[in-house]
Amino acid sequence: MSPQPRNVVIIGSGPAGLTAAIYCARANLAPLVFEGEPSSTGDQPGGQLMITTDVENYPGFPDGVQGPDLMAAFRTQASRFGAELRTEKVSRVDFSQRPFRLWVGDGDPAAATAQAVIVSTGAQSLMLGLEAEERLIGRGLSTCATCDGFFFRDQEIAVVGGGDSAMEEALFLTKFASKVTVIHRRDQLRASKIMQDRAFASDRIDFLWDHAVIDILGSEALEGVRVRHTGNGAEQTLPLAGLFVAIGHRPNTDLFKGALDMHPSGYLMTEPDSTRTNVPGVFACGDVQDDVYRQAVTAAGSGCMAAIDAERWLEAQPEREHR
Ligand code: NAP
Repeated sequence: MSPQPRNVVIIGSGPAGLTAAIYCARANLAPLVFEGEPSSTGDQPGGQLMITTDVENYPGFPDGVQGPDLMAAFRTQASRFGAELRTEKVSRVDFSQRPFRLWVGDGDPAAATAQAVIVSTGAQSLMLGLEAEERLIGRGLSTCATCDGFFFRDQEIAVVGGGDSAMEEALFLTKFASKVTVIHRRDQLRASKIMQDRAFASDRIDFLWDHAVIDILGSEALEGVRVRHTGNGAEQTLPLAGLFVAIGHRPNTDLFKGALDMHPSGYLMTEPDSTRTNVPGVFACGDVQDDVYRQAVTAAGSGCMAAIDAERWLEAQPEREHR
């Protein structure tokens, strides 16, 4: 038998999901949060801040805060108001009828049923797949120039990638770094013409064409990279203070294929100025529906929006069950 329907189930526990949990809990909706489970494929309860060290741009922390400490505080705050947190990963959903059903693992029956669901499963930065990445992320290796550029004032750094993200990151980083080298695996950029022109016009950006990063050097902090020419195989070491990987992002939306409308890029579609998806009663917030801003504070803001949207939607339902 399926469990009694909850008012709201939240899938994901980054800044968006836990902010939604705080707001839902304070609205007496007793939300259940599936936090996810750590996995070798990059799943990370607490979201991307769990692999971030210094966070200096989250308002309210003038001296900065460690990413995991910030997420622990979000979690404590959500629990304090009555959100129930389960360290389990949702494996399957049925949004075709209400109450919605959610499963974990292979088991039956459903682990939870809900009148409303908030999806906040986030996104992952694509990585190069090098062993050193796990060790050096947040220690000179970054996937977010907006977050970490400030730490590299007057230093030499590099950006990997040839798309719009890489150009955007490189241009932003010229505000801080003395030199930015774009390392790209081909001899042509994928980025739009306007972004290419801007990058080519900068006297602080150099291009290392036809090179792949094959190793990241440094034990406690990043000290450089080893690169290989994709044509002749020649290798060289580049001493660097920082490396920004900007080879794209992947939203965590496999679970919702066929259940929710998505953009061709895999990001969930929401109605303009709202967190409503195409399924009434299912809301999406944070990086899973945002490929533009991708900041903890914007994710938290959209988590708040999702909670308010869900609360108002529930209020408007005649058959609402209270639990
Ligand atoms: P993208 O367009 O998919 O570009 C990814 C880049 O990373 C490509 O140059 C690719 O090389 C390279 N790459 C992929 N895997 C790699 C690997 N394992 N090792 C080395 N290099 C690798 O991704 P994006 O730049 O994140 O952009 C995604 C979308 O958002 C695009 O539609 C883009 O236009 C849009 N966007 C727009 C803006 C803007 O307009 N301001 C800013 C950011 C993003 P290849 O070229 O060889 O495939």
